[in-house]
Amino acid sequence: MTRLSVAGVTAMLLFASMSGQTSGQTRTVTDAEVMRVHRSTLLIDTHNDVPSRTVEGFDIGARGNTTGHTDIARLKEGGVGAQFFAVYVAASYVNGNRSANRTLQMIDTVRHDIVGRYSNDFMLATSAKDIEEAHRRGKIAALMGIEGGHAIEDSLRLLRDYYDLGVRYMTLTHSNTNNWADSSGDIDDAKVKHHNGLTDFGKQVVREMNRLGMMVDISHVADKTFWDALEVSRAPIFASHSSSRALANHARNMTDEMIVALAKKGGVVQVNFYCGFISQKFRDNDAADTRALDARMAKETAGKNLSEPDRQILSEKLRKEMNLSRASLADVVDHIEHIRKIAGIDAIGLGGDFDGVSCTPAGLDDVSKYPNLTRALLEKGYSAEDIRKIYGGNFLRVMRAVETAAGK
Ligand SMILES: [Zn+2]
Repeated sequence: MTRLSVAGVTAMLLFASMSGQTSGQTRTVTDAEVMRVHRSTLLIDTHNDVPSRTVEGFDIGARGNTTGHTDIARLKEGGVGAQFFAVYVAASYVNGNRSANRTLQMIDTVRHDIVGRYSNDFMLATSAKDIEEAHRRGKIAALMGIEGGHAIEDSLRLLRDYYDLGVRYMTLTHSNTNNWADSSGDIDDAKVKHHNGLTDFGKQVVREMNRLGMMVDISHVADKTFWDALEVSRAPIFASHSSSRALANHARNMTDEMIVALAKKGGVVQVNFYCGFISQKFRDNDAADTRALDARMAKETAGKNLSEPDRQILSEKLRKEMNLSRASLADVVDHIEHIRKIAGIDAIGLGGDFDGVSCTPAGLDDVSKYPNLTRALLEKGYSAEDIRKIYGGNFLRVMRAVETAAGK
C-alpha cells in the first residue's frame, strides 16, 4: 500500500515537472534547497578512470590537488556516495597477451592504493547492500568495473576470478573489437575482423555474467553487440557511461531505439559527461580544434615521455588556454531531459567518465561539482525524488535485479 501511494506521488511530481518543462520556465532555487536535496541523494557515479593515475603513483588522498578530476577531498565536496573505479585495460595489452596482467594490476590499485590506503574514507562494496551500508557509515563505497572484455583473455575462468576479486561490471568491449564482441570504436574499419555482434562464446560470457551477478555493460560496444546482449541477458543490462546519439552523433552514444529497448528491460543509461559525447557543437568544431591542439601538444611534449593520464591532463589545460570548444552543464541536462522524454525517469543515471577524458563540461569540471547539476535539475523543475532516482536510485534497482537474477 505504502509503495502504491509513493508511486502515485512520484507520478504526480513527474507530471508537474514535465508540465513545468514544456512551458520553458526555470524556477528560482536557493543554495539551501540545493544542498538539502543533494545531501538526500545517494550519488552513485558508475565510471571514473582515476585508477589509471593511481596505478602510476598518483596519491588520491593528497591535499590541495589541482590536477585531474578526482581526489578524496573533491569526492566529498561533490557528495559522491559511491564510485565505480574503472579497471581499464587498453587495447594495446592484447599484444603479447598482457591483458590479464594489466587487469590484475588495475584491480590491485583500486584495492591497495585507494581502498586499502584510505580505509577511513572508502569501503570496498560488491553489492547494492554494501553501497547502502558504506553510505550509512559515512564512507564512499568503492566499486570496480572492468573496461574492455579482452581483459578475460577469452576465458570464463578469468571472468570468475575477477568476480571473486570484487569486479561487478564489465564493458563487453573497449574501443577495440575483441575475439567475441564487436566494438563501436572500430566497426567501420574493414581491416578488423568483425563478428556481427556477439559470437557464441560472447553469448556464453553474457550468460556467465548473469549467473555470477556481474552487470553487463554495453558502453563502447557496436550496435549489433548491444542488441545481441539485450536479447541474451536474463538480467537487465546497462550503459555505465554513454549518452544520447540523437543529441550528439557519436557511435559511442545510444540511439533512441536502443535507449527505449534498454529501459523496457529494466536497464539504465548512465550519462557520460565527455564534451565529445554531449555537445554536437563541440563535435562540429572538433576536427579544427584537434589540429590546433595536436600541434600545440607536440610542441609542449617534445622530448618528454608522458603517461596517457598526464597527456590527458595537459591536453585539457591547453584546450582551456587556447579557448577551444567545450561543452556545458546545460548539455548534460539536455541529455538527461532527452532520455526522460523517450524512456522515462527510471532509465537515467550518471557515469561522468572523470579522469578518462580531456574535456569536461564547464560547470561540471570535476567530481566536486555535482551540486551544480542538482541546482540545474531543480531549476528545470525536477523533483527531489526524480533527482534521487537519477543519482543512484535507478542504478541500485538495476544492480539488485542483476543480483536477484543470479540468486544472490
Ligand atoms: Zn570508456
